Amino acid sequence: MMHWENFVRKVEPYSPGEQPQFDKMIKLNTNENPYPPSPLVCSMIQNMDMDLLRRYPSPSVEPLVGKIAEYFGVKNSNVFVGVGSDDVIAMLFMTFFGSDKPIFFPDITYSFYDVWADMLNIPYEKKPLDKDFLINVDDYKGENGGIIFPNPNAPTGIFMPLDKVEEIIAVNRDIIVIVDEAYIDFGGISAISLIDKYDNLVVTQTFSKSRSLAGMRIGYCIGSEKVIKYLNDVKYSFNSYTMNQCAIMSGVASIEDDEYFKEMCDKVVKTREWVKKELKSLGFEFPDSKSNFIFATHPKIDCVDLFNWLRDERIFVRHFSKPERINNYLRITVGTDDEMRTFINKVKEYIDMR
Ligand code: PMP
Repeated sequence: MMHWENFVRKVEPYSPGEQPQFDKMIKLNTNENPYPPSPLVCSMIQNMDMDLLRRYPSPSVEPLVGKIAEYFGVKNSNVFVGVGSDDVIAMLFMTFFGSDKPIFFPDITYSFYDVWADMLNIPYEKKPLDKDFLINVDDYKGENGGIIFPNPNAPTGIFMPLDKVEEIIAVNRDIIVIVDEAYIDFGGISAISLIDKYDNLVVTQTFSKSRSLAGMRIGYCIGSEKVIKYLNDVKYSFNSYTMNQCAIMSGVASIEDDEYFKEMCDKVVKTREWVKKELKSLGFEFPDSKSNFIFATHPKIDCVDLFNWLRDERIFVRHFSKPERINNYLRITVGTDDEMRTFINKVKEYIDMR
C-alpha cells in the first residue's frame, strides 16, 4: 500500500439501481415516474433566460424555497432545498447526528442510511421490522442519538399511520427525528402537519418520484426555523450554490402545475392497484404498498431467477440480496399501464414455461 493510502477515508459506497441504456426496455428498477414532468417545466427550460446561467444562482435557493413554503403553508425559514433528498439527508446526518449514542433506523430500509452513518462515523443500531415488515414503535423508545425512517418505508412500501409516527417523535423530544417521505404522494399522509408541534421533527421530500424530476435533482426538508438555520450553516460551510438555476426554475414550474401533479399521482396509484390484483392472481405475496412500487415474493418462484429472466427480456426490476429475509423479493416500480401489461404478460410466460 502506498503511504498516502493509509490516510484515505475508505468507504463502502451505496450502489444505486442500474441505469441501462437500451432504446427499447421497460425500466421498473429505480422508482422513477413513468410520465414526463409538467409541460410547464418543459416550456420553462425551453424559454430559459440565458442571463440566468451567466450569474450564480441564489444561495438561499429562491424562488424555489418560497414556492415550497407557500405550497405547504409554512415560512421560508422552515424550508431547506438540496440536490435531491439524498443531499438533504446527508446534510441532516452531518448537522444533527453528532452524539456518541447510536442513531436508530429499521433493518430493512433505504440502504443509504448506513452508508452515510459509516462515512461520517456515526454509530447506529438497526431495529428489526416485525414478521409483517412493520416498524415496532417501542424499538424507538430507547436512548439514541437520532432517528430516521422512510414513510412509506422502502423497499416495503408500507405506510405507518401518523399517530404512530407522532408517538416516535413525541418520546424523542431531545433528539432529531427525520421522516423520509420520498414516496408520500402516492397515498400516504405527510407528517409536515406536525412541524409546528415538534421542533425535533424534520420531514424530507423529493421531486424525483411524484414530480417526475429525478434527473433534475431536487429534494427538500421542512422543519423548525432553528433546525433549518443549523442546516444552512453546514451547507454554507460546504458549498453555497448547491442548486443550479435550471433545477431551481424547474422546481418552481412543477409546483405551479398542481393539477398535473395530482393527475399523474392518481394515474400511478390506479395502475398500482391494478397490478396488485394481477400479481395476487399469479400467486405473488406482498405488503400493501402506498408508494410507487410493489415489494413482491412468490412461495413457488425463485425470484432471482425471475429477475435474471426478465432482465434478458429487457425488463428491469430491483433485487436486494441483503438482508437474507428479503432475498426472494423483487421491488417492482409502477410504470405506465402498457409497461405493466407487458410486465405481467412476461411474468405469466415465465410461470407457464416452468
Ligand atoms: N429516500 C428514499 C427512501 C429513497 O428511496 C430515495 C431514492 N433512492 C431517496 C430518499 C433519494 O431520492 P432523491 O435523492 O432522488 O430525492
